[in-house]
Amino acid sequence: MDCQKCKSNQDRVVATEGYSDRVRRRRECITCGHRWTTEERIIEEEPPREGTSFDCAGRLCRL
Ligand SMILES: [Zn+2]
Repeated sequence: MDCQKCKSNQDRVVATEGYSDRVRRRRECITCGHRWTTEERIIEEEPPREGTSFDCAGRLCRL
């Protein structure tokens, strides 16, 4: 992840906090020392429902 201040992509994780379905990471830019926090979480992907199928163009469509 790029630093918001100097746009460097040289960052390191200084702390990690875990919750039930998400993780927070405290990051520090190696170049300028700027610190920020990122959060990761699970995004549920919906399975295709009954009544959906792919049309000729390969797109998901509802019948
Ligand atoms: Zn920086």
